[in-house]
Amino acid sequence: MMMTEPHDDLHPDTLAVHAAMERSQYGENSEALFLTSGYVQPDAATAARRFGGEEEGYTYGRLGNPTVSSMEMRLAAMEGTEAAIATSTGMSAILLMCMALLKAGDHVVCSHSMFGSTIKLIASEFGKFGVQSTFVSQTDVAQWKAAVRPNTRLLFAETPTNPLTDVCDIRALADIAHEAGALLAVDNCFCTPALQRPVLFGADLIVHSGTKYLDGQGRVMAGALCGSRRLVSEVLLPVMRSAGMTLAPFNAWVVLKGLETLGIRMEAQSARALALAQWLQAQPQVARVFYPALASHAQHELAMAQQSGKGGAVLSFELKAADPDEARKRAFHVLDNSRTISLCTNLGDVKSLISHPASTSHGRLTEAQRQVAGVSQGMVRLAVGLEHVADLQADLARGLGTL
Ligand SMILES: *Cc1c(COP(=O)(O)O)cnc(C)c1O
Repeated sequence: MMMTEPHDDLHPDTLAVHAAMERSQYGENSEALFLTSGYVQPDAATAARRFGGEEEGYTYGRLGNPTVSSMEMRLAAMEGTEAAIATSTGMSAILLMCMALLKAGDHVVCSHSMFGSTIKLIASEFGKFGVQSTFVSQTDVAQWKAAVRPNTRLLFAETPTNPLTDVCDIRALADIAHEAGALLAVDNCFCTPALQRPVLFGADLIVHSGTKYLDGQGRVMAGALCGSRRLVSEVLLPVMRSAGMTLAPFNAWVVLKGLETLGIRMEAQSARALALAQWLQAQPQVARVFYPALASHAQHELAMAQQSGKGGAVLSFELKAADPDEARKRAFHVLDNSRTISLCTNLGDVKSLISHPASTSHGRLTEAQRQVAGVSQGMVRLAVGLEHVADLQADLARGLGTL
């Protein structure tokens, strides 16, 4: 873990390519990959100072690695935060955050449409250790405000959500959190810093699953938390040292290189997603399309203001059907007729992916929980990649046209 230097004079696109470039004595132009678990110390006294935290220097792979540090510094520069800490997965970033910030008797407020494993982790696992949680509407700021208690330490939001792309008002939630003496964490997985920098709206911690768009080509799992120097080095890092949800250097290197193309990928994938969303809206078999860049989206204006005028690469749509059974059958038909688009519940790949949330990502929820989350049997989610839009349309048309 190393700290970022201020890069006030450079644009995010430039930072994505050049930030945190530390060359070895060989002068390599592409970032080196340091695969090592240990570090040879120059002498015993230096080793003692490094282990004692009195001197900077690598001691052991769980505590730091030059490749991992580069990835952390580059991501922090792009998010506009002072520092970042990388983790093995997105979920382990959330685990680290909760372990570091919460103790028995503390209270967390989250949206009830957050990532399923996040809800399970906070409500069930941390519930076991005496952490209280309240789940509220993604979009109703009054519900967030009303849920705050004297022991509330953390508000945790994700915007836009999966699969409905509901958008929350980051600035409004930051104000509620800070008034209560709590922190606001934002899961920025769907937009990435290329489209949305939550710190500009007052968020204290940014959560990432590097598995998604930061890698961007579906190769590795990774995660990260971005925040102030104090939060990262004094609150998060000590827990990481004991708990060890460390990111592997190889995975850090893949993400580090992925960050270089993040901006153009998010732009190109957002453009394709918008074209598909508009096309889907015009299809007679489709009841509704959920995508932030459509004027029909419930929080369209807020989304455009928070997300650099872009919708991101994830959209979902609902098929017309007489009842839930027929809706599910129709959704399966569309999935099973896609050839170019992969049937895969992941997202954040340059390959377009299609999924049926009600039977996969939201399959562990009860029917009542699914209804609260707005995930119906006729809903199909698309994570749009980099293929030509005409090919994606033709792929979807094959299923839609034979319903
Ligand atoms: C995938 C995802 C996560 C979890 O990340 P992993 O890398 O799979 O552990 C967290 N939040 C959101 C919004 C996600 O899409």
